[in-house]
Amino acid sequence: MPRSRLFYFVVDCVIGAAAMSEPLMATYNRLPVTFARGEGVWLWDQDGKRYLDALSGIAVCGLGHAHPAVRDAICEQAGRLVHTSNLYGIAEQERLGALLTQLAGMDRVFFANSGAEANEAAIKLARMYAHRRGLDNPAILVAENSFHGRTLATLSATGNRKVQAGFEPLVQGFVRVPYNDVDAIETAAANRPNIVAILIEPIQGEGGIQVPADDYLPRLRAICDREGWLLIDDEIQTGLGRTGRLFAHQHTGAEPDVITLAKGLGNGVPIGACLARGTAAEVLAPGSHGSTFGGNPLACRVARTVLETIVSQHLTENAARLGDDLLGALRSALGQTRGVTSIRGRGLMIGIELDRPCGDLMRQGLDAGLLINVTSERVVRLLPPLIMEQPEADQLVRTLADLIQGFLGNA
Ligand SMILES: *Cc1c(COP(=O)(O)O)cnc(C)c1O
Repeated sequence: MPRSRLFYFVVDCVIGAAAMSEPLMATYNRLPVTFARGEGVWLWDQDGKRYLDALSGIAVCGLGHAHPAVRDAICEQAGRLVHTSNLYGIAEQERLGALLTQLAGMDRVFFANSGAEANEAAIKLARMYAHRRGLDNPAILVAENSFHGRTLATLSATGNRKVQAGFEPLVQGFVRVPYNDVDAIETAAANRPNIVAILIEPIQGEGGIQVPADDYLPRLRAICDREGWLLIDDEIQTGLGRTGRLFAHQHTGAEPDVITLAKGLGNGVPIGACLARGTAAEVLAPGSHGSTFGGNPLACRVARTVLETIVSQHLTENAARLGDDLLGALRSALGQTRGVTSIRGRGLMIGIELDRPCGDLMRQGLDAGLLINVTSERVVRLLPPLIMEQPEADQLVRTLADLIQGFLGNA
């Protein structure tokens, strides 16, 4: 074997061995930190360094980390009953279902284990609803730059080619329109007789914290009423107090027929929910949908505790008030900064858009002891815990303003 071939053979062996010893599939671009514990809005890494959490594990840990009520609910329920099966009655599922439907103004709920699964239930529900009405080949309207999950149906609904690329053939039956554009929906209504529903985020999260016009959802509601379509709100990111109302659609008065929830519902214990009202609530019948884990006693007990805590501790109101303060403080700290093109959001769902890609800010944030996210390449996304208080919010603004100004070279 020539020496160069031998050299590359050895290199291949070393790379191969390294790859073989890596147990996790390469699905994530992970930041170079591993957390060991958390408390409230704080996380500590394995070396004992402390970080202010302004992301909540992507809108999941609204009650922060190691919340005593959540800890107690997990421990007590684990000592009593974790799982039986949906073959049997589940008291905790019924209790959570009663509370959640009442708070959401919905009639019925199906419990799943994630956001994507909640949306799968909503998509199946919409298709079944269409077939019941004799509509073959039904289609669901979805938005550009939307995010609905990574199962085959939900990635097909998602308006982001990066999420879909390589997984073709996609699931059919989705029609895409620009977000915050009612005319595009009117055009689709006029030209496509097979539409049965609109699946929409009240505020786009992954799409860069895009807040639509105040009358967008009410106008979608009116079109759905006129056309006999279902309005399906994907509140997986916006729900559970995040935007300063328990559900983001409550800012608008436009009541959806179906709501999907997940992220903030279990404070980290996996659970998703698909809620429906009216005829939409009667579509799924025995045998038409199900889940082994969905709605098990542990997840439901924890979610009920999360809901009760959000309500009793007035965390939705805190998100509204603190969110307003944060938005104001960020605007005065960064509003005049060259390179900052927009500061927007609602409640504790805030985006700061820059004029350039800024993914490196996540790593720079780590160095500064601050956890933030960048989505849509140039939007710094903040989703702090709903329990955050003023001093921590002040610290967040100071640290983030320095970071962004340094990054943009305006320091
Ligand atoms: C996160 C998210 C999902 C997907 O939830 P998973 O639990 O990751 O499956 C769907 N829709 C929206 C709006 C989300 O933010």
